[in-house]
Amino acid sequence: MKPVAFDYTAPPDVKSALSALAAEGAKLIAGGQSLGPMLNLRLTRPRLLVDISRIDALRIIERRGDSLWIGAATTHARIEDDCDGMLQTVAAGIAYRSVRNRGTIGGSMAHADPAADWPLALTAFGAFIHVHGPAGGRRIPAGEFMVGAFTTTLGDAELIEAVEVPVPSADARWGYYKFCRKTGEFPEASAAVLLDPKRRVANVVVGALNGAPRRCDDLAQRVAQRDQIDANAFAAAVAAVADLDALALRMHAVALARAVEQAVPS
Ligand SMILES: Cc1cc2nc3c(=O)[nH]c(=O)nc-3n(C[C@H](O)[C@H](O)[C@H](O)COP(=O)(O)OP(=O)(O)OC[C@H]3O[C@@H](n4cnc5c(N)ncnc54)[C@H](O)[C@@H]3O)c2cc1C
Repeated sequence: MKPVAFDYTAPPDVKSALSALAAEGAKLIAGGQSLGPMLNLRLTRPRLLVDISRIDALRIIERRGDSLWIGAATTHARIEDDCDGMLQTVAAGIAYRSVRNRGTIGGSMAHADPAADWPLALTAFGAFIHVHGPAGGRRIPAGEFMVGAFTTTLGDAELIEAVEVPVPSADARWGYYKFCRKTGEFPEASAAVLLDPKRRVANVVVGALNGAPRRCDDLAQRVAQRDQIDANAFAAAVAAVADLDALALRMHAVALARAVEQAVPS
């Protein structure tokens, strides 16, 4: 199928993007990697597409104090090329380079696919999502931004400006593991771990669930204390936060165990 007819604008800055977005039937487009298929299938029928992919202020990667600010329209490929550590690994593991060349971190957060990488990874980082709209700005913890499958706290007239990622200390340890049937496909189970004792951070998160990624805080405390954790405990941690069938539970438990093993090798 083909999309319904729509108008198109590519505003030069955030202010004009927000005023364009205020129009009836307006919708943002960044990389178009998720919106493109949705338009073709007519799952969405905007009257106006507001293209934010060329707004320079939305494409920054900038150190500010103890955080790294990544503009919402920054592509996965740019993060893969210009960042390091878990950010680099997560970006490089998304789909194929052609998708990464266009897909953006803000688009991924706004689209809120349960299996997407950034909602999981940014929750593990303890990152914040900076949103701008007619009523001004909001700073939302990444773990509270996505509230369900394809559902976020974002209002219709709001856009994501940037994500703020606290920079881990030099001693921080992390793990990131996902099961994909084929390279480049969305995962069927995923997990992320960030341990940063200097910053009192111990985050263990599972993804590719039925809704938003979920934190496993009790398990995180045990991991931080270097407890011996057996397979049953990983399965119990997943079962405590998600209602999954036996196969999915096992896959998530194994993904979790492998992410923990990367962070804290036994
Ligand atoms: C073949 C294929 C494989 C993929 N595999 C993976 C994978 O393994 N892991 C993964 O995480 N992702 C995967 N993706 C998704 C991809 O990584 C993109 O991140 C994702 O499609 C959305 O980013 P985008 O910039 O293309 O957003 P778009 O498609 O342009 O927009 C998506 C939605 O977000 C909204 N939006 C965009 N930017 C903003 C903003 N700044 N503020 C508010 N709303 C905004 C749009 O209005 C739209 O509703 C895959 C995509 C494809 C096509």
